[in-house]
Amino acid sequence: MAIRSASYGAVILRSREVPSGARVVTLLSAEDGLVDAFVFGGGKSKLRSLASPWHSGRAWIYRDVAKDLVKLTDFDPDREFAAIRGDLAAIASASFVSEFITATSALGGDWADALDLSTSALSTLDEAAAAGNSRAVDRAVALFVLRALDLMGMTPDPDECSICAGAIRRDTIHSYSRRSGGFACAHCAEAEPEAIRLPPGALAWLDSAGRRPFEEAVRVGLGDEAARALKACALDLARKAADAPLRTLNSGLF
Ligand SMILES: [Zn+2]
Repeated sequence: MAIRSASYGAVILRSREVPSGARVVTLLSAEDGLVDAFVFGGGKSKLRSLASPWHSGRAWIYRDVAKDLVKLTDFDPDREFAAIRGDLAAIASASFVSEFITATSALGGDWADALDLSTSALSTLDEAAAAGNSRAVDRAVALFVLRALDLMGMTPDPDECSICAGAIRRDTIHSYSRRSGGFACAHCAEAEPEAIRLPPGALAWLDSAGRRPFEEAVRVGLGDEAARALKACALDLARKAADAPLRTLNSGLF
């Protein structure tokens, strides 16, 4: 059969206009992974507003294999994460989440985990934006990247120097080397002035956050300096993990 229809839970990651004037949304589901689907109808169409970025809900997809056409025929959002759209830092962060998921082919193809993680990240960004809590926005971004890398098997070992392979003692300041994309011992970090210094609190936070569900982990507080360092380190790792340059990281809003 050349025509198939399907319906599943999905999150809308982005939407864009194509030259013909039609809109194409990228959605992520556990069943079908990343799918680009046409949304027909004018600018004021109800479906266009229902299928806006970061809405999460049930999608109805129509696929005509012979014509190579995938169409979103309906979308019923159960969560809209409306507070994100009222906060520039949250918009930039949610756009980054969307871009990272697409640039890594949904974290290397583990669709259910990618959907779970992106929905958790959007939910915490929404909560942080609603509360005007910019620190929680930053923590959500850092945690999103670190959990994503974990799912992709790309987390650098915090206890081994990525340059000399020596052990890193936990009681010293950890450094992250942009050059090697991993942690560095004090000796190697000294030779690299642009290394990011991670205060002890950053690793303690990671340990503690790592044992909790995402939404709960983001609520664990972290000192400003540690948060800045952790976010810088997470974003550098994100750049290295993506297949293509991440446009959202150069938006100036990070
Ligand atoms: Zn070393």
